[in-house]
Amino acid sequence: MQDFLLILLIVFAGFILITLVRAAFYKPKKRDTTPLPPEKVDVDRYVRNLSDAIKIKTISSRDSDRVNWAEFEAFHALLEERYPLIHKTLEKELVSKASLMYRWKGKNPQLKPIALLAHQDVVPISAGTAKDWKYPPFDGTVAEGYIWGRGSLDMKNHLIAVMESIETLLEEGFEPERDVYLCFGHDEEIMLSDDSGALNMARLFKERGIELESVIDEGGAIIPAKIKGLLDINIAGVGIAEKGYADFEIAVTAKGGHSSQPPNHTALGEMAVIIQTIENHQFKAKLTPYLKELFRGVGRHMSYPGRIVTCNLSLLWPVVKAIMKRIPAAASMIRNTTAVTMASGSPAPNVLPQTAKINVNFRIMPGSSIKDVEKHLRKIIKNKNVTIRLVEGKEPSAISPTDSETFKVIEDICYRMNEKNLVAPYLVMGGTDACRYEDVAKNIYRYSPFVFGTELLLTTHGTNERLPIDSVEDAVAFFKRYVRSLAGKESK
Ligand SMILES: [Zn+2]
Repeated sequence: MQDFLLILLIVFAGFILITLVRAAFYKPKKRDTTPLPPEKVDVDRYVRNLSDAIKIKTISSRDSDRVNWAEFEAFHALLEERYPLIHKTLEKELVSKASLMYRWKGKNPQLKPIALLAHQDVVPISAGTAKDWKYPPFDGTVAEGYIWGRGSLDMKNHLIAVMESIETLLEEGFEPERDVYLCFGHDEEIMLSDDSGALNMARLFKERGIELESVIDEGGAIIPAKIKGLLDINIAGVGIAEKGYADFEIAVTAKGGHSSQPPNHTALGEMAVIIQTIENHQFKAKLTPYLKELFRGVGRHMSYPGRIVTCNLSLLWPVVKAIMKRIPAAASMIRNTTAVTMASGSPAPNVLPQTAKINVNFRIMPGSSIKDVEKHLRKIIKNKNVTIRLVEGKEPSAISPTDSETFKVIEDICYRMNEKNLVAPYLVMGGTDACRYEDVAKNIYRYSPFVFGTELLLTTHGTNERLPIDSVEDAVAFFKRYVRSLAGKESK
């Protein structure tokens, strides 16, 4: 017995020793961090133009009659006035009701074009919250180092940055080798529209036989991650895929009648059991390869004490997964999520329900499908009186590669702009226009090159949405470098 304990002790001591040595060598991967030459960026012009863009209420709605199309016309006029060189040099096409497609013709027709995407529309202000804004949501106020207002993060900031970068490249006399498209949808915020501006622009590419080299759209941003003494980096999240979406209506039928003579379980009672079953049968969680890569990347950037733990991440995956499953925001990254969102029963207090209905909202991982969700529901719900119906849905996107020319360009610019940046491919939880282009592009990336903390991220679609002015210069410079790298002389 004593021998056994001794062996155990030696093995343990050996493990600790190996870990201590491994941690010393567990360092960030070698990258080229040579600073890039500075870029000319007119920050004042950007601020003025974004501020004026916010003043135009380009609010989209599912009900086309409720959209004020004059606002979109005003937005187009603003772009035309503020970006004269773009409007002189690029071909502009109006697609669908109000989407804009610009083509900057390249010199070499053999090369596949690239596309820079953005959406012009914004979400409305939730009823009763306008008074909570520090500055009115459609005034485009510039104060306290921020540009305030709806769309300042989602995503007129990005659209204006793209326009600024192209206008400045034109001023500098840049001529692209390949075609560069700018595609600005007008109805991204209306989920699941099967006639959206983005879809119609993608269809145009298809009809014209154009395959795109790559697409870049909104998605991740650069988020500082700081833990005192342990970690001090910026995580540049590049979305390589997005989750799917499905609403299922589940209904239970029963006899109904007067509530004075009820059965043991009414339709609602039966539904309660179904809800419990659904919530108790969550989908299986899986740590995706890109998530593991992110953890490893972050782990390598930690100070020595942190690396003692993170250099053994492979051993810790089951623990990491178990912890993530307990935190809703983390769990959503590793499995299909299930949310029972709506319920209805009888129309009156003293009437037994003849039907009880719920809506269950699912967000689906790439690799899974709406069919898989339906199968899962039919397997776990064992009730003869139930009907399950798909209300609406959108399949998860494909996963874009991380070894494409475009991804490498994004990485290169990020690392050379700030050596604290860590580029992390990740899964986008919400929807973007980007996935509409899957038929015409394999390399689709969702990345907005602005630096801001998570507290600002939460103002997207919320109150006090605002963009830090000090994030502007790098963002515009990013797009200039992006276009120059992909469409410049060295383009392959
Ligand atoms: Zn958006």
